[in-house]
Amino acid sequence: MQLTASAPTLEDQAQPAAPTKIVLAGKLFDPYTLELLDNQAITICNDSGMILDVSPLSAISSNFASFDGEVIDLRHLTVLPGFVDTHVHLFLHPYAETSWVDQVTKESIVERTIKATVHAKRTLMAGFTAVRDLGTEGAGDADIALRKCLSSPGALIPGPRYFCVTRAIAPTGTYGPKSSLYVNKEGIDDVTGVDVADGTQECIKAVRRQIGAGADWIKVIVTSHYAVRSRASEVSRRVGAASMATFDYDELRAMICTAHAYGVKVAAHATNRSTIIPLISLGVDSIEHAYDMFAPDSTVVEMFEEYAGHKTKYVPTLAAYYTMTQGKGEIWDRAANSFKAALELDLDNISCGGDTGVFAHGANALELSLMVRLGADWKKVLRWATLGGWEGFIADLIATPGNFAADFEGAVSAESIQFVMKGGKIYKRDGLPLV
Ligand SMILES: [Zn+2]
Repeated sequence: MQLTASAPTLEDQAQPAAPTKIVLAGKLFDPYTLELLDNQAITICNDSGMILDVSPLSAISSNFASFDGEVIDLRHLTVLPGFVDTHVHLFLHPYAETSWVDQVTKESIVERTIKATVHAKRTLMAGFTAVRDLGTEGAGDADIALRKCLSSPGALIPGPRYFCVTRAIAPTGTYGPKSSLYVNKEGIDDVTGVDVADGTQECIKAVRRQIGAGADWIKVIVTSHYAVRSRASEVSRRVGAASMATFDYDELRAMICTAHAYGVKVAAHATNRSTIIPLISLGVDSIEHAYDMFAPDSTVVEMFEEYAGHKTKYVPTLAAYYTMTQGKGEIWDRAANSFKAALELDLDNISCGGDTGVFAHGANALELSLMVRLGADWKKVLRWATLGGWEGFIADLIATPGNFAADFEGAVSAESIQFVMKGGKIYKRDGLPLV
């Protein structure tokens, strides 16, 4: 068989694409002023995916007749910047399906990576156009390759903008999984949930190595997640469950200073005042969880009084506590009361990160809903869920038919998100995925 190529005819040659497209918004949420603006037109550069202009529709409607680019009519919807979930784990799936230990020790990196690609698409379709992944939890550095597949110019698969850390850093003995046969050995079958480092030199080295490997952020475990002395629970629940600091001050300072010297920010898993306040003084960029109001030396209000005035973001991860406890009991009460204390002090440096992965990817908006249920102003929550996570002029836009004031949870739920655009490209329209 002979293959012949004919010269393109004039009709075959594509018309030069218009340089811009326009999104018409019935309402547009402005996260800076917290206003809902009526009838706006957003002009987007097709080449760069950047927003070039936002104007009242009336001001530009006279030019429409001559506009030959695409017009996306969302006048029946409310348009807002894409949501940002600042605390996800794309390599985890709900603990209600499989426990953390079983995921880390019984699911291969191949299986976990394939699942992560599915989670990425669900996240984007729920209107979350950017996420920060705070650790692969035993899946090594697979997030770096996932980032390439999601976010490079020739992206293979749909998903949000993806900022990742490779592995969280924690000292010896403080994190899982823990072997029941080899009690003095780190991890199981050479799988560790974190990157283990001890002493300032190893801490500096771990940070440099991770940045060299491509990490966007550094994540440090500052209050033990797996209680350091969890093995003691075989004989004493009180000792076994005790939450305690992991790194010492010099180790924390070494990691934060090293990361900052390279222009890389640091997220800290920390729960109580005695670990949080030193971190803030060291200029850490975000505190994850901060839920323990029964710190021995102060109340949670005192903790947030010291927190106020600092730029460090507070990421309360309410959704993780809520889903793990069904919203009942002491742990949930602590998390809820900590968030309420922050609201009472009018803390505004909050971002929305649910620890998504502990519960289902795609249900990310649960964090926003819980904040409103606990008394936060919905407009502030929309600011925390957008500007609170990532700021830019790129056209990451979503749209919902919902009414935030009347039914906030309905308006932000994944089912309500009718339209998703990332970098000027449409991924979901009329409620249907295009990819
Ligand atoms: Zn987490």
